[in-house]
Amino acid sequence: MKALVKDKAEPGLRLMDVPEPEVGPGDVLIKVLRTGICGTDLHIHAWDGWAQQAIRTPLVLGHEFVGEVVDTGRDVTDINLGDRVSGEGHLVCGKCRNCLAGRRHLCRATVGLGVGRDGAFAEYVVLLATNVWVHRVPVDLDVAAIFDPFGNAVHTALSFPLVGEDVLITGAGPIGLMAAAVARHAGARNVVITDVSEERLDLARKVGVSLALNVRDARISDGQRALGLREGFDVGLEMSGRAEALQDMIANMTHGGRIAMLGLPAQEFPVDWARIVTSMITLKGIYGREMFETWYAMSVLLEGGLDLAPVITGRYGYRDFETAFADAASGRGGKVILDWTA
Ligand SMILES: [Zn+2]
Repeated sequence: MKALVKDKAEPGLRLMDVPEPEVGPGDVLIKVLRTGICGTDLHIHAWDGWAQQAIRTPLVLGHEFVGEVVDTGRDVTDINLGDRVSGEGHLVCGKCRNCLAGRRHLCRATVGLGVGRDGAFAEYVVLLATNVWVHRVPVDLDVAAIFDPFGNAVHTALSFPLVGEDVLITGAGPIGLMAAAVARHAGARNVVITDVSEERLDLARKVGVSLALNVRDARISDGQRALGLREGFDVGLEMSGRAEALQDMIANMTHGGRIAMLGLPAQEFPVDWARIVTSMITLKGIYGREMFETWYAMSVLLEGGLDLAPVITGRYGYRDFETAFADAASGRGGKVILDWTA
């Protein structure tokens, strides 16, 4: 089968023929229809410092996908041939304290699909049945392909109650945009989003934010004034991983404000801890999705009319992966999809 492979410890990817994966007793074999390109895939493509220490070659990339079940192992009972499925890309150990308690998203020995083992940028992927999410309600294929990052957005956005609250989101990449749509849908009063790309801020306006602020030429405090906020933001969702974004967020929170952080900083940086203490701010780190509570929430949010269409801006056949990766890495658009049937 064709697969997108990091075959050597150097920048770039190769589209090559690899053996089809074997199906174990608890596994599901999935014919991949569409995949989403994630920031993680860009790091692996570029072979940056993180990739060099995290990845062992050869590796089939990819963890955001939708596909169709074409085979199941003998122990799989509740998943059927022809089911349309996505997959939870965090494979958990099942043995640690959190796994045993049912808090699988807090597993301390997680292996990532397309990071620690072969992934979904291929014509077929095999996954443990316990990690397969069956789309019981029809979902647009492009949206189904990005359930993994959509789950990051939902997990982050629904970490704290949003109804009637003023929400600040730093970073209008695909996950920031989806979080903005969720916050809107969930009943936030104001949703303010920041970025440095006018294209991404335009996409944010399409998902219905109150204010999309370019922090190259405006300050978050200007945004607060424009919306008539007197006491600061109630909830912050940090999606950029950038020091100045978190520092600025902390400076603009109300007393008792709550911050959920999904953006992954590349290095350590100073934080005004005195402000955290005296403003009594809560900081929560987010990684992945709750299994499978977040997946349930995603499905019902879409059923309830949440619209993610503006977030998907690039569609390519898998043979055009170089163009697709360049599009995703540009920092200007939304989500980029690879079609594995074209
Ligand atoms: Zn575990």
